[in-house]
Amino acid sequence: MNKAAKNSLIAVEDALDAILEKIMPVATEAVPLNRCFGRVLAEPIVSTINVPPFANSAMDGYALVANDVKNAALDSPIALTVVDNIPAGVTPKKTIISHTCARIMTGAPMPAGATAVVRFEETSEQISTFDVPEGEVLIYNGILEGDNVRLAGEDIQTGQTVLNVGHRLRPQDVGVLAAIGQATVTVYRKPRVAILATGDELVDVDEPITPGKIRNSNEYVQAAMVEKYGAEAITLGIARDNVADLTAKIQAGLEQNVDLFLTSAGVSIGDFDMVKTVLAAEGEVQFWQVGIKPGKPLAFGQLHASDKLVPLIGLPGNPVAAMVAFEVFARPAILKLGGRLSWEKSSVIANLDEDVTNSGRRHFMRAFVYPTPDGYRVTTRSSGVQVQGSGILTSMVWANGLVVVPENTRHLSSGAPVEVWILD
Ligand code: AMP
Ligand code: MG
Repeated sequence: MNKAAKNSLIAVEDALDAILEKIMPVATEAVPLNRCFGRVLAEPIVSTINVPPFANSAMDGYALVANDVKNAALDSPIALTVVDNIPAGVTPKKTIISHTCARIMTGAPMPAGATAVVRFEETSEQISTFDVPEGEVLIYNGILEGDNVRLAGEDIQTGQTVLNVGHRLRPQDVGVLAAIGQATVTVYRKPRVAILATGDELVDVDEPITPGKIRNSNEYVQAAMVEKYGAEAITLGIARDNVADLTAKIQAGLEQNVDLFLTSAGVSIGDFDMVKTVLAAEGEVQFWQVGIKPGKPLAFGQLHASDKLVPLIGLPGNPVAAMVAFEVFARPAILKLGGRLSWEKSSVIANLDEDVTNSGRRHFMRAFVYPTPDGYRVTTRSSGVQVQGSGILTSMVWANGLVVVPENTRHLSSGAPVEVWILD
């Protein structure tokens, strides 16, 4: 890293672009339909059938010729001869001609000749005002052609692209795949992301806490976030701030065939230089001061594994800074690795509850956003929690959003509209 870069901040976009430039999607695999929820499509899905495949009834009722009953009303029902009874799952055999009808169940194929279905509730099946001649039904409503009929292909048509490459499958998408008979799908393999906490002060969650020590929370946050964004977390535990241990843990991670390496801590100015030295020895790693708050120190580079280069993102140590830097830099990297084509964070515009000031970096302020009749409002203060410290992890428990204050904005007044990233 050169001296000039050391003193100046690099822009958030430039850092992210430099990271994403080195990230390529992982390989693909075929998975059965019942394993594909949450996976990212690696092929466009084109339907080879119509859904529904045939015109069918949307109601339990009578399939008839709409024109026959156009003058039907509560006080002047029209009598039709019942010629068939059609349950779901069968092929109707009879054709409906004028002044005949068929009893039909929801989902049963429409019989030839019928143009509409009148619901049981609008027939002598449910209304007993007049006597019904044997073998007939009285229709009390003058329905129109097409009423209560679902057309073939009204949901999906043969040849239609129903889902695109890069789409992460949700329950409803899995349903569409089932509806069109797609028993297996080609998806991206889940990226494998190594997580390594660094620091002499760290102890694990089940170890006794001794003077000067704190617990390693970053590893657990990051493993959960890796899973949240569709990847597999490979946790490597804690590396001590010495060359031998760091080198050993990094090598252990690389041996597990990971696609991305995340470390936390040890990348800020004044840190034990060991982390930087070791990372530099294991590949090409740059250390940046990014124009972001919290999360200014960031490392990025590529580690030399036996058969490939593995991108590494060195996140800051402070738990909130680590989470924000994860959202801003690691999240897009994981999504791109996993085959996603976009990684824009969901956001809303909300009006600030109070004045905020900023100091020249892009400030991701912990915030609570809430709806009002006049749109969203957002607060960056809480009576119960110290909200803006970069070590206050409970501020992230309190927060449901991050207010994004641009680097060139020094002051925003109460009521001003701001962008808020939605965390949940
Ligand atoms: P560093 O970047 O190493 O100076 O760490 C910055 C701060 O983050 C220090 O207060 C560390 O104790 C804290 N920290 C580092 N790693 C972790 C971790 N895994 N979990 C919780 N806090 C951490
Ligand atoms: Mg440290």
